[in-house]
Amino acid sequence: MNYSLTWDLNTIFPGGSHSKELQQRMATLDEQITELHQAVQSFEAEKRITTNLLTILNWNAKVSNGFEECGSFIEALLSADVSDTKAKLLSGELSKKIPKYQLAMTIFSKKLAAIETNDWKQWLTDSKLKSIAFRLEEIRRDGNKLLSDTQENIFHTLSLDGLKAWSQHYDTIVASIIIPFTEKDGSKVELSAGQAFNKMNSHPDADVRAEIFEKWEQAWSQKADLFSDTLNHLDGFRLSTQKLHGIENYLQEPLENNRLKQETLDTMWSTIQKNKQPFVDYLTRKAQLLGNDKMKWQDQEAPVLLGNMHEETYTFDEAAAFIIKNFREFSPKMATFAQSAFENSWIEAEDRPGKRPGGYCTSFPESQESRIFMTYSHSMNEVATIAHELGHAFHSSVMWDLPVLNQEYAMNVAETASTFAELIVADATLKKAQTKEEKINLLDVKLQNAIAMFMNIHTRYIFENHFYQARQKGLVSTEQISEMMVNAQKESYLDSLANYHPHFWAAKLHFFIDDVPFYNFPYTFGYLFSTGIYAFANEQKTNFEEDYIALLRDTAAMTTEELAKKHLGVDLTQPDFWQAGINKVLEDVNEFMSLTKDYV
Ligand SMILES: [Zn+2]
Repeated sequence: MNYSLTWDLNTIFPGGSHSKELQQRMATLDEQITELHQAVQSFEAEKRITTNLLTILNWNAKVSNGFEECGSFIEALLSADVSDTKAKLLSGELSKKIPKYQLAMTIFSKKLAAIETNDWKQWLTDSKLKSIAFRLEEIRRDGNKLLSDTQENIFHTLSLDGLKAWSQHYDTIVASIIIPFTEKDGSKVELSAGQAFNKMNSHPDADVRAEIFEKWEQAWSQKADLFSDTLNHLDGFRLSTQKLHGIENYLQEPLENNRLKQETLDTMWSTIQKNKQPFVDYLTRKAQLLGNDKMKWQDQEAPVLLGNMHEETYTFDEAAAFIIKNFREFSPKMATFAQSAFENSWIEAEDRPGKRPGGYCTSFPESQESRIFMTYSHSMNEVATIAHELGHAFHSSVMWDLPVLNQEYAMNVAETASTFAELIVADATLKKAQTKEEKINLLDVKLQNAIAMFMNIHTRYIFENHFYQARQKGLVSTEQISEMMVNAQKESYLDSLANYHPHFWAAKLHFFIDDVPFYNFPYTFGYLFSTGIYAFANEQKTNFEEDYIALLRDTAAMTTEELAKKHLGVDLTQPDFWQAGINKVLEDVNEFMSLTKDYV
C-alpha cells in the first residue's frame, strides 16, 4: 500500500489550466445558457405543459453541472498552486457567465409564481413532477418575492458595488492588519491576522498566547471604526433589500435557506442554554489544568499536555488504513468508498509551499467524482480532517443519480455526513489511547468542538440578533457594537470567563459574508443533528447503513423537520432530540472531569 499524496485531476480535465477539454466545456456552457434562456422565454406558465417545464429543468441541470464541474476544477488548480495565473483568468472568465444564468432563473421563478395556487397544486400532482415538487415549490416561493425583471436587475447590478463591495472591503482591511511579535530567539516578526490567529490559539506556551491576544485585540480595535462602517453598511444593505422585497423579519431568509422553522431553532438554543453548566465546569477544570482559576478567552483551544504526553503521529497510509477500518464498522459502503478515494488519488495532501491553507471537499457532477484538498503533516487532527472531508464526498456520491434540484442541500445538513465521519474517527482514536494523559488530551480536543458549537457560535447568534435589531433603528456605533459583543459572550458563557474579546465582531470573517446571512446556527444544528444520528447508529446497527443513505439522499427534498421525522422519527420542534444529542456530548464531559480530578 502506497497511496499518492497528490491528487489526480487529469481524469476530470487533462492538462491543468491549459486543458483544451476545459476550454471546450466552457464554450459549450455558453451555448447551454442560451438554450436555457430560450426555453425560459418561450415557457407559457398559463398552459402548464409538463414537457416544456422538464426541458427547462434539463437545460438548468446541464448549466448548473457545467458551472460546478468547471468551477470546482479551476478552484482545485488554484488551491494546489496559488501562482497559477492562467487558472485565475479562467476563474474570471467563468464568473462572467453567471449573470445571464441568474437572469434566466429569475424569469423562470417569476413565471412559476404567476400561476394560480389551485392550478399549481393540481399541476404538481403530475407523476413526472412529484419527486421534485418540494424544490419547485421553493422556486415558486422565491419568485413570489421578486420585483420586476428591471428592478431585480438594478438590485443585482447595485449589489456589486454595495453588498458585495462591503464584503470585499472587509478583506482589504483585514489584509492591512499586522501583529508585531518577538520570537523566542529575539527576532522580530510581523504576523498577518491568519498567522497570529493560529499562534494565539494553539501555541503551547500560555504567555505567548496571552501576549498575542492582547496585541490581537489592539490591532482590531485600532481599525474598529472601519470595521463598524463596513458591518453597518453591509447589514444595512441587506436589511434594505429585504424590506424592499416585503420581508420584515431578518431571520426569514436564513431560516428559509436552511429549510428550518424558527420554532426548531429556538428549541435547539433553549435546550443548549439549559445544559450549559457542565460545559462551564469543563472550561473551568481545563483552566485549572493550565494553572488558572477561570478560563481565558485565548486558552479555549490550547492543548492539554499532562505528564510526559507526546502526540501520536500517523503516516498517510496509516491514516488511510485507520479510517477505512473504522468506517467499516458502521457502513461497509462508506469504507469501500473511502478506499477507492485513496486508490484513485482523490486527495491532495502533500505538505509543500505554494498551496492554499485549509481543507475542503469539492465535487464534479459530470465526472461524478469528488476531490479533497488539505495539507497533511501527520497529526491526529488531520486524520480527523480527512475523515470529515471523505464524509462530504460520500454524501455527494449517494446523490449522483438524483435530479439536480434534489442534490442542492442546505448548509445545516451539509455538515451531517462530514461530522458523522469525523465522530467515528474521533471515538476510534479515543478507544486506542494508551495512557490516561493521552485520553485526556483527545477528550479535550473533542470537547473544544462542543464549546465552539454551544458557546462560541451561540455568542455569534445572540450578537447578530441584537445587532440587526439595533441596525433596523439606525447606525450602530463602534462602542455599542463592542459592548453588544461582550454582553453576548457573557450570556453565552454564563459569565464564566476570566476575560472577553470585545472586537470578536471585527475579527470574525463570518459576520462579513455577503451571500449567506447568519453564518452561524447551521454549524450548531449540523453538529447536533449528526450527533443524534451517531447515537442512533450506536443503538441499532442492523439496518443502519441503508437508513443512513436514505436520509442523506433526502437532504434536499424536504424541510429539515420533515427529514428528521421521516428518517429518525423525531420532532425537532421538541427538546427531546436536542437533549439526547447533548447527553451524548455530556458523556465526554463527565469522563474528562473524572479523569482529570486528581490533577487539580
Ligand atoms: Zn465540512
